[in-house]
Amino acid sequence: MTTSTFSERGAAAVGSAAAAAVGDGARHLIEKRAAAVDAYPAMDAMRDRVREIRLHTLAHLDAYLADFADSVEAAGGHVFFAADADEANAYILGVAGEAGAELVVKSKSMVTEEIELNGALEAGGLTIVETDLGEFIVQLSGDRPSHIVAPVLHWTKEQVGHLFADQLGVPYADEPTELNQIARTHLRRIFLRADMGISGVNFAAASTGTIAIVTNEGNGRLTTTAPRVHVAVMGMERVVPTVEDLGVMLEVLGRSATGQSLTTYTNLITGPRRPDDDDGPDEFHVVIVDNGRTAVLGDEVSEVLACIRCGACLNICPVYRTVGGHAYGDVYPGPVGSVLSPILFGFEGREELPYACTLCGACLEVCPARIDLPSLLVNLRERVAQEGTAFSWLDRPLDAYEFAATHPTMWTASIDGASLAGRANRGGWFKRLPWRGKTWTSVRNLPAPAVTSFRRWWKKHHGA
Ligand code: SF4
Repeated sequence: MTTSTFSERGAAAVGSAAAAAVGDGARHLIEKRAAAVDAYPAMDAMRDRVREIRLHTLAHLDAYLADFADSVEAAGGHVFFAADADEANAYILGVAGEAGAELVVKSKSMVTEEIELNGALEAGGLTIVETDLGEFIVQLSGDRPSHIVAPVLHWTKEQVGHLFADQLGVPYADEPTELNQIARTHLRRIFLRADMGISGVNFAAASTGTIAIVTNEGNGRLTTTAPRVHVAVMGMERVVPTVEDLGVMLEVLGRSATGQSLTTYTNLITGPRRPDDDDGPDEFHVVIVDNGRTAVLGDEVSEVLACIRCGACLNICPVYRTVGGHAYGDVYPGPVGSVLSPILFGFEGREELPYACTLCGACLEVCPARIDLPSLLVNLRERVAQEGTAFSWLDRPLDAYEFAATHPTMWTASIDGASLAGRANRGGWFKRLPWRGKTWTSVRNLPAPAVTSFRRWWKKHHGA
């Protein structure tokens, strides 16, 4: 989290090439979602089922996590419950140390971004290489992801071409197929040398200890099978009761995220390599990360933990599409991030996030788990308001409004005063306002008050 505010970061981003690229990319994704949903009549029923499964699991999370841990261990794997980022990172470093690992490959995982795993492993002397194309670009450039599904939505293919030419010493190219091939050739050599693979977990089935990892590039498969050790890192809310429930999640995930009926590579992994398996890791570890989630379970906004990280609410959000992901300041941007980040990481410095929303309700329309993000955001606004620090500049204007609105003489005088301003402006538009009003008129005009107030008009025409 940076020290600047959402307003400052957002204002700086509006109109930038990065924000424009995010807007275009997000619009494209949401169009693909709409087409996929149109072609899948069961989508509404599936969304109901997803919500039911997710809320049921959250209500019994302790039991399902215990079942999941038992199932993983029965299949020959190891489970570690990490209370916070430090515990998770220390455990993974320990596993790497025991295995004598030096080179680590990693597939895309938001929870590892959340716990800042890369920095911790590098500080421990390991070399870690991102293998998802978007995350690879982020790592090579020292940038940050701007979307939970498409980390470099803010990049153009020309920028990627220049980055690869500078960093990998290859000829400049800007054709997506060529760029993919460059990354593939570079990464393939690293996969073959890696000692340890780290993945995220899209979903985990408690009954069998199976984890599901979906990717469109096949890097998840190589990360989890080529190295000797596989460590899967999951937020504790990723579990569902059974493999059948996991199938229900997959029905909606690809459609909501990228408009695909199923993500290209869907890996279901249960335990390490068995004696008669041709390949797979010798060791399989699952790190279950709490990092504030237990506290959220008891909160009024706990529903947000039902999120399946499809990114549809980001794509549809007019605010996200205008400012891009970095303006949100944390790893989880967009409407879901505006709920998750303050509640997981604290309100300090994030007071504006619940207000980074027009309450248009579009996110609720597309969310596959039907999470009522607008209501959750209003709930968080109440808390920010009760805290009374973020918008203290509004206190005096609101006190003045309250006084006028509860004293009829003052109210009439205020309305007449406003009409005078309207008259001076001939009922037109204010184009430049002072003080906080500048925020409004810097991007749009404000209609001037009516020259004759409704009260005066009514009195004149109806005499009361
Ligand atoms: S809140 Fe809903 S729409 Fe947004 S990422 Fe999560 S599941 Fe997808």
